Amino acid sequence: MRYVSTRGGVEPIGFANAVMMGLATDGGLLLPESIPQVSAATLRRWAGLPFQELAQEVITPYIGEDLTPEELTDLIKRSYAHFSDPAITPLIELKGGQRILELFHGPTAAFKDVALQFLGNLFALLLERRDQRLNIIGATSGDTGSAAIYGVRGQPRIDIFILHPHQRVSPIQERQMTTVLDENVHNIAIQGTFDDGQRIVKELFNDLPFKQKYALGAVNSINWARILAQVVYYFYAWGQVSGGDSQQRVSFSVPTGNFGDIFAGYIAMRMGLPIERLILATNRNDILSRFVHSGSYRADAVYPTITPSMDIQLASNFERYLYYLLGEDPIQIREKMAELAVAGEITITPQQHAEVQRLFLAEAVSEAQTTAQIAKTFSESGYILDPHTAVGVAAAHAHPEAICLATAHPAKFPEAVAAAIGSPPPVPPALQGLLEREQRCALLAAESGVIKAFIEERLAER
Ligand SMILES: *Cc1c(COP(=O)(O)O)cnc(C)c1O
Repeated sequence: MRYVSTRGGVEPIGFANAVMMGLATDGGLLLPESIPQVSAATLRRWAGLPFQELAQEVITPYIGEDLTPEELTDLIKRSYAHFSDPAITPLIELKGGQRILELFHGPTAAFKDVALQFLGNLFALLLERRDQRLNIIGATSGDTGSAAIYGVRGQPRIDIFILHPHQRVSPIQERQMTTVLDENVHNIAIQGTFDDGQRIVKELFNDLPFKQKYALGAVNSINWARILAQVVYYFYAWGQVSGGDSQQRVSFSVPTGNFGDIFAGYIAMRMGLPIERLILATNRNDILSRFVHSGSYRADAVYPTITPSMDIQLASNFERYLYYLLGEDPIQIREKMAELAVAGEITITPQQHAEVQRLFLAEAVSEAQTTAQIAKTFSESGYILDPHTAVGVAAAHAHPEAICLATAHPAKFPEAVAAAIGSPPPVPPALQGLLEREQRCALLAAESGVIKAFIEERLAER
């Protein structure tokens, strides 16, 4: 399998090179040259498979010769060894029939573990083979940082530096990062905001000599391997409810921020999974749901909400979907992205808009609706939704048969849950004892010079 850029400026490359490249060098996003097709007979066979075996089947056609079957088996086994549920992503049915796909049984209790455990192990394997090292630098406002840290902790060829705004992430989120004491993990609390953190990371990546000397890399949601790992659970969930009957169409409701998770569902559909509708659920930061309703993609301010992992302005994976919508034409993508940069807006034709609406239903859910949904689901079934999951459940109100993706454990957001049901949710083992554990974290000024010096000093010691 070869990978191309949405903007057409990269010679086709293999899977391993695509993973190591991350963002395409022409500023676009990498996609497979063609999407592997799954027959009805294959769907039937896949329906009964355990998660890990299914992952092997779904991922294999995307990697070509770049990993042996044994390497992939071992990679998958290690990536999902730290999940607390043997089903990895169990599908449950609440009293009343609501279906929930629980994606939060990984080490940090959020769905990002499904992809980042896989990506961390994949990076390690490819670096070993190339005899290279990688230094991951990232800024986090909370959740992604811990999932990235857990994805690479203890890997001998990788160091990770995660910046978070000092005392501006929740105590749980802070401890999830700073209690990881592996030598390759470097937490930095900056005296500033999340925006300062993002600015510093950008400055470090733009310093090309520094970037090259220290082999800087990122783990943001644009890496193709992350999308690929997420495609698996759409097939898994379908298998659980359809019993392998390829006539059985299902809908999914997906709480959306950067369009990564829901795009994985789109890829599953393009492979042949019988998906009826994808319900795109956003919070008040509704650029994507406005796009589905109006056919215009236009940025707005970012409003902080009780679903912080969905507080985005522009969705980094949207360009991938746009590529397919515009007929896989890189010239049009370049035009549209230039339009966005200049005019702040992308518009599509009425025919394209109709195509969007044939597949996607979208709803922006307010904070009051989110809180009310947590309370309603709890009183009807005794089940506690995290606020992000509640956004998805609320958006699916007219489609009670849809499978709702549960993206975080409710105990990660105890205040929002307590506001809805009167008390905080029980804490799962993954989050227990965090407040008592030893921490390691540097507190530094929010200046790229200071951060650079710290990184150089730490790497000199390693
Ligand atoms: C990241 C995240 C999302 C949004 O996922 P995207 O792939 O960015 O759309 C939703 N819920 C939670 C809990 C998350 O951490």
